Amino acid sequence: MKILVAVKRVVDYNVKIRVKADQTGVDTANVKMSMNPFDEIAVEEAIRIMEAGKAKEIVVVSLGVAQCQETIRYALALGADRGILVQTDDELQPLAVAKLLKFVVERENPDLVILGKQAIDDDSNQTGQMLSALLGWSQATFASKVELGDGEATVTREIDGGLETIRVSLPTVISVDLRLNEPRYAKLPNIMKAKKKPLEVISAADTGVDFAPRLTTLKVTEPPQREAGIRVGNVAQLLDKLRNEAKVI
Ligand code: AMP
Repeated sequence: MKILVAVKRVVDYNVKIRVKADQTGVDTANVKMSMNPFDEIAVEEAIRIMEAGKAKEIVVVSLGVAQCQETIRYALALGADRGILVQTDDELQPLAVAKLLKFVVERENPDLVILGKQAIDDDSNQTGQMLSALLGWSQATFASKVELGDGEATVTREIDGGLETIRVSLPTVISVDLRLNEPRYAKLPNIMKAKKKPLEVISAADTGVDFAPRLTTLKVTEPPQREAGIRVGNVAQLLDKLRNEAKVI
Protein backbone atom coordinates (compact mmCIF):
# COMPACT_ATOMS: atom_id res chain seq x y z
CA MET A 1 0.00 0.00 0.00
CA LYS A 2 1.25 3.42 -0.95
CA ILE A 3 -0.05 6.59 0.70
CA LEU A 4 0.12 10.09 -0.75
CA VAL A 5 -0.26 12.98 1.68
CA ALA A 6 -0.86 16.59 0.62
CA VAL A 7 0.86 19.19 2.80
CA LYS A 8 0.31 22.91 2.42
CA ARG A 9 2.63 25.69 3.57
CA VAL A 10 0.55 28.27 5.41
CA VAL A 11 1.03 31.18 7.82
CA ASP A 12 1.79 29.61 11.21
CA TYR A 13 -1.34 29.28 13.33
CA ASN A 14 0.26 31.31 16.15
CA VAL A 15 0.85 34.35 13.95
CA LYS A 16 -1.53 37.26 14.21
CA ILE A 17 -2.70 37.79 10.64
CA ARG A 18 -2.15 41.23 9.07
CA VAL A 19 -4.25 42.34 6.12
CA LYS A 20 -2.34 44.14 3.34
CA ALA A 21 -2.92 47.89 3.26
CA ASP A 22 -4.55 47.65 -0.19
CA GLN A 23 -6.94 44.91 1.09
CA THR A 24 -5.93 42.48 -1.67
CA GLY A 25 -4.93 39.73 0.74
CA VAL A 26 -2.98 38.73 3.82
CA ASP A 27 0.55 40.05 4.36
CA THR A 28 2.98 37.11 4.30
CA ALA A 29 6.22 39.11 4.17
CA ASN A 30 8.53 38.16 7.07
CA VAL A 31 5.84 35.96 8.59
CA LYS A 32 6.54 32.53 10.07
CA MET A 33 5.19 29.80 7.79
CA SER A 34 4.48 26.21 8.83
CA MET A 35 2.72 23.07 7.72
CA ASN A 36 -1.07 23.42 7.78
CA PRO A 37 -2.04 21.89 11.17
CA PHE A 38 -4.59 19.51 9.61
CA ASP A 39 -1.87 18.26 7.27
CA GLU A 40 0.33 17.40 10.26
CA ILE A 41 -2.54 15.16 11.37
CA ALA A 42 -2.69 13.68 7.85
CA VAL A 43 1.06 12.92 7.90
CA GLU A 44 0.79 11.44 11.41
CA GLU A 45 -2.03 9.14 10.31
CA ALA A 46 -0.04 7.92 7.31
CA ILE A 47 2.95 7.21 9.58
CA ARG A 48 0.78 5.29 12.04
CA ILE A 49 -0.63 3.19 9.18
CA MET A 50 2.91 2.45 8.04
CA GLU A 51 4.05 1.66 11.59
CA ALA A 52 1.15 -0.78 11.85
CA GLY A 53 2.65 -2.58 8.85
CA LYS A 54 -0.20 -1.67 6.54
CA ALA A 55 1.69 0.65 4.18
CA LYS A 56 5.06 0.42 2.48
CA GLU A 57 5.62 3.99 1.33
CA ILE A 58 4.50 7.51 2.18
CA VAL A 59 4.92 10.21 -0.46
CA VAL A 60 4.24 13.82 0.55
CA VAL A 61 3.23 16.41 -2.02
CA SER A 62 3.17 20.16 -1.72
CA LEU A 63 2.17 22.69 -4.34
CA GLY A 64 3.38 26.25 -4.45
CA VAL A 65 6.56 28.28 -4.12
CA ALA A 66 10.09 26.87 -3.75
CA GLN A 67 9.95 27.34 0.04
CA CYS A 68 7.31 24.58 0.23
CA GLN A 69 10.37 22.32 0.21
CA GLU A 70 10.75 23.20 3.91
CA THR A 71 7.25 21.90 4.57
CA ILE A 72 8.03 18.72 2.67
CA ARG A 73 11.32 18.29 4.57
CA TYR A 74 9.44 18.57 7.85
CA ALA A 75 7.09 15.77 6.75
CA LEU A 76 10.14 13.72 5.75
CA ALA A 77 11.61 14.32 9.22
CA LEU A 78 8.38 13.06 10.75
CA GLY A 79 8.66 9.81 8.80
CA ALA A 80 7.52 10.19 5.19
CA ASP A 81 9.77 8.50 2.61
CA ARG A 82 9.98 11.00 -0.21
CA GLY A 83 8.56 14.28 -1.37
CA ILE A 84 7.29 15.95 -4.50
CA LEU A 85 7.01 19.70 -4.95
CA VAL A 86 4.84 20.96 -7.79
CA GLN A 87 6.37 24.38 -8.02
CA THR A 88 4.81 27.64 -9.11
CA ASP A 89 4.83 31.24 -7.93
CA ASP A 90 1.27 31.67 -9.20
CA GLU A 91 -1.74 31.65 -6.90
CA LEU A 92 -3.26 28.17 -6.56
CA GLN A 93 -6.93 27.88 -5.72
CA PRO A 94 -8.45 24.59 -4.48
CA LEU A 95 -9.62 23.47 -7.94
CA ALA A 96 -6.11 24.06 -9.31
CA VAL A 97 -4.59 22.15 -6.38
CA ALA A 98 -7.02 19.27 -6.94
CA LYS A 99 -6.16 19.14 -10.66
CA LEU A 100 -2.42 19.19 -9.98
CA LEU A 101 -2.81 16.55 -7.25
CA LYS A 102 -4.71 14.41 -9.77
CA PHE A 103 -1.69 14.73 -12.07
CA VAL A 104 0.59 13.49 -9.27
CA VAL A 105 -1.83 10.70 -8.28
CA GLU A 106 -1.88 9.43 -11.85
CA ARG A 107 1.93 9.31 -11.85
CA GLU A 108 2.27 7.71 -8.42
CA ASN A 109 -0.76 5.39 -8.28
CA PRO A 110 -1.28 5.49 -4.50
CA ASP A 111 -3.97 3.40 -2.81
CA LEU A 112 -4.84 6.19 -0.44
CA VAL A 113 -4.62 9.99 -0.54
CA ILE A 114 -4.81 11.79 2.80
CA LEU A 115 -5.35 15.55 3.07
CA GLY A 116 -6.30 18.00 5.77
CA LYS A 117 -9.98 18.84 5.92
CA GLN A 118 -9.11 22.48 5.34
CA ALA A 119 -6.22 24.83 4.96
CA ILE A 120 -6.20 27.42 7.75
CA ASP A 121 -5.32 30.23 5.34
CA ASP A 122 -8.15 29.98 2.81
CA ASP A 123 -10.50 27.83 4.97
CA SER A 124 -11.86 26.42 1.73
CA ASN A 125 -12.50 22.79 2.70
CA GLN A 126 -12.73 21.90 -1.00
CA THR A 127 -9.55 20.25 -2.24
CA GLY A 128 -10.16 16.68 -1.03
CA GLN A 129 -13.71 16.62 -2.32
CA MET A 130 -12.69 18.02 -5.71
CA LEU A 131 -9.79 15.59 -6.01
CA SER A 132 -12.05 12.61 -5.31
CA ALA A 133 -14.54 13.83 -7.93
CA LEU A 134 -11.81 14.43 -10.54
CA LEU A 135 -10.34 10.97 -9.95
CA GLY A 136 -13.73 9.24 -9.74
CA TRP A 137 -12.62 7.78 -6.38
CA SER A 138 -14.58 7.31 -3.17
CA GLN A 139 -14.08 9.89 -0.43
CA ALA A 140 -14.33 10.02 3.35
CA THR A 141 -14.18 13.56 4.70
CA PHE A 142 -13.62 14.86 8.27
CA ALA A 143 -12.14 11.58 9.49
CA SER A 144 -11.74 11.08 13.23
CA LYS A 145 -10.89 7.36 12.94
CA VAL A 146 -9.46 5.35 10.06
CA GLU A 147 -9.27 1.56 9.93
CA LEU A 148 -7.82 -0.11 6.86
CA GLY A 149 -9.12 -3.49 5.75
CA ASP A 150 -8.66 -5.58 2.65
CA GLY A 151 -9.28 -3.22 -0.27
CA GLU A 152 -11.40 -0.96 1.90
CA ALA A 153 -11.30 1.59 4.71
CA THR A 154 -13.74 2.09 7.55
CA VAL A 155 -13.81 5.76 8.45
CA THR A 156 -15.57 7.50 11.31
CA ARG A 157 -16.55 11.02 10.27
CA GLU A 158 -17.24 14.05 12.41
CA ILE A 159 -20.61 15.36 11.33
CA ASP A 160 -23.02 17.92 12.79
CA GLY A 161 -24.28 16.55 16.08
CA GLY A 162 -22.31 13.31 16.14
CA LEU A 163 -20.28 10.72 14.32
CA GLU A 164 -20.94 8.73 11.19
CA THR A 165 -19.07 5.56 10.22
CA ILE A 166 -18.76 4.68 6.56
CA ARG A 167 -16.93 2.04 4.55
CA VAL A 168 -15.22 3.10 1.34
CA SER A 169 -13.42 1.00 -1.22
CA LEU A 170 -9.77 1.71 -2.05
CA PRO A 171 -8.35 3.71 -3.68
CA THR A 172 -9.89 6.53 -1.74
CA VAL A 173 -9.41 10.14 -0.66
CA ILE A 174 -9.58 10.82 3.07
CA SER A 175 -9.63 14.28 4.62
CA VAL A 176 -8.75 14.41 8.31
CA ASP A 177 -10.35 16.24 11.21
CA LEU A 178 -8.79 17.54 14.41
CA ARG A 179 -9.51 14.61 16.71
CA LEU A 180 -8.03 11.87 14.49
CA ASN A 181 -4.68 11.84 16.28
CA GLU A 182 -2.08 13.98 18.01
CA PRO A 183 0.85 14.59 15.67
CA ARG A 184 4.35 13.87 16.91
CA TYR A 185 7.23 16.34 16.78
CA ALA A 186 10.22 15.78 14.54
CA LYS A 187 13.36 14.70 16.42
CA LEU A 188 16.62 16.47 15.63
CA PRO A 189 18.42 13.37 14.22
CA ASN A 190 15.42 12.77 11.95
CA ILE A 191 15.51 16.40 10.77
CA MET A 192 19.13 15.80 9.75
CA LYS A 193 18.29 12.48 8.06
CA ALA A 194 15.37 14.08 6.21
CA LYS A 195 17.82 16.30 4.33
CA LYS A 196 19.01 13.22 2.46
CA LYS A 197 15.57 11.85 1.57
CA PRO A 198 14.51 12.26 -2.09
CA LEU A 199 12.60 15.41 -3.00
CA GLU A 200 11.56 15.79 -6.63
CA VAL A 201 10.63 19.21 -8.00
CA ILE A 202 8.19 19.41 -10.91
CA SER A 203 7.32 22.70 -12.53
CA ALA A 204 3.54 23.20 -12.47
CA ALA A 205 3.86 24.77 -15.92
CA ASP A 206 5.26 21.49 -17.28
CA THR A 207 2.29 19.39 -16.11
CA GLY A 208 -0.03 20.55 -18.88
CA VAL A 209 -2.67 21.24 -16.22
CA ASP A 210 -4.73 24.44 -16.48
CA PHE A 211 -4.27 25.86 -12.98
CA ALA A 212 -5.39 29.42 -13.71
CA PRO A 213 -7.53 30.95 -10.92
CA ARG A 214 -11.28 30.79 -11.40
CA LEU A 215 -12.16 33.09 -8.51
CA THR A 216 -11.27 36.73 -7.93
CA THR A 217 -10.80 38.05 -4.42
CA LEU A 218 -12.63 41.36 -4.27
CA LYS A 219 -11.52 42.50 -0.86
CA VAL A 220 -9.96 41.19 2.36
CA THR A 221 -10.79 43.05 5.57
CA GLU A 222 -9.91 42.73 9.25
CA PRO A 223 -12.70 41.39 11.48
CA PRO A 224 -14.50 44.20 13.33
CA GLN A 225 -12.77 45.30 16.53
CA ARG A 226 -14.36 43.73 19.59
CA GLU A 227 -15.79 46.23 22.03
CA ALA A 228 -14.25 46.32 25.49
CA GLY A 229 -16.03 44.23 28.11
CA ILE A 230 -17.74 45.65 31.17
CA ARG A 231 -18.04 44.41 34.72
CA VAL A 232 -21.57 43.96 36.06
CA GLY A 233 -22.41 44.36 39.73
CA ASN A 234 -24.61 41.32 40.23
CA VAL A 235 -26.50 38.50 38.53
CA ALA A 236 -29.67 40.58 38.14
CA GLN A 237 -27.73 43.20 36.14
CA LEU A 238 -26.15 40.46 34.04
CA LEU A 239 -29.54 38.97 33.23
CA ASP A 240 -30.92 42.40 32.43
CA LYS A 241 -28.07 43.10 29.99
CA LEU A 242 -28.33 39.68 28.35
CA ARG A 243 -32.09 40.10 27.99
CA ASN A 244 -32.39 43.76 27.00
CA GLU A 245 -29.03 44.76 25.46
CA ALA A 246 -27.56 41.62 23.93
CA LYS A 247 -31.05 40.14 23.45
CA VAL A 248 -29.65 36.61 23.69
CA ILE A 249 -32.05 35.24 26.34
P1 AMP B 1 -8.51 23.62 1.28
O1 AMP B 1 -9.49 22.92 0.38
O2 AMP B 1 -7.77 24.74 0.60
O3 AMP B 1 -9.14 24.06 2.59
O4 AMP B 1 -7.36 22.56 1.65
C1 AMP B 1 -7.67 21.25 2.11
C2 AMP B 1 -6.42 20.39 2.09
O5 AMP B 1 -5.94 20.28 0.74
C3 AMP B 1 -5.23 20.90 2.87
O6 AMP B 1 -5.33 20.57 4.26
C4 AMP B 1 -4.07 20.17 2.20
O7 AMP B 1 -3.98 18.82 2.64
C5 AMP B 1 -4.52 20.17 0.74
N1 AMP B 1 -3.94 21.34 0.03
C6 AMP B 1 -4.56 22.51 -0.28
N2 AMP B 1 -3.70 23.35 -0.92
C7 AMP B 1 -2.52 22.68 -0.99
C8 AMP B 1 -1.23 22.99 -1.53
N3 AMP B 1 -0.97 24.16 -2.12
N4 AMP B 1 -0.25 22.05 -1.43
C9 AMP B 1 -0.49 20.86 -0.84
N5 AMP B 1 -1.68 20.52 -0.33
C10 AMP B 1 -2.68 21.40 -0.40
